[in-house]
Amino acid sequence: MRLSLKSFLGTLEKTPFKKLLERLERYVTKKAELLEHVDPDRIYVENVRSFLGVSEPIARFLCEQAARDGQFNKKVGVVCVTCDRIVVSIDADDTYPEDLTCEICEDLERESEDFRTINFYQLEQRATA
Ligand SMILES: [Zn+2]
Repeated sequence: MRLSLKSFLGTLEKTPFKKLLERLERYVTKKAELLEHVDPDRIYVENVRSFLGVSEPIARFLCEQAARDGQFNKKVGVVCVTCDRIVVSIDADDTYPEDLTCEICEDLERESEDFRTINFYQLEQRATA
């Protein structure tokens, strides 16, 4: 019995190898989509965790390591509790700004006296010249 190329390819398509390739393709596409949604100026541990599929402590460790290596800048965002917006972001070793106000809430005449902080990382911008 002679196997034609067409039926050979047909057989190949039904093999688990093809399924594996499809799975790999979906995986890569998902990673690319995740990357597209990551702002290089706002990298959260959660981004790294979901991107790499690792646990939260490991993602945190990797971010800290990247910051020590100078690939990430460690930042602190001061968030208005009322509108959940980052009012100001500072370097992690900068002093916390005094007399903070949220201009958005002020304009809307809403009270905004409570602020919380959120840690994130910024991709270090290197001069390519
Ligand atoms: Zn606000």
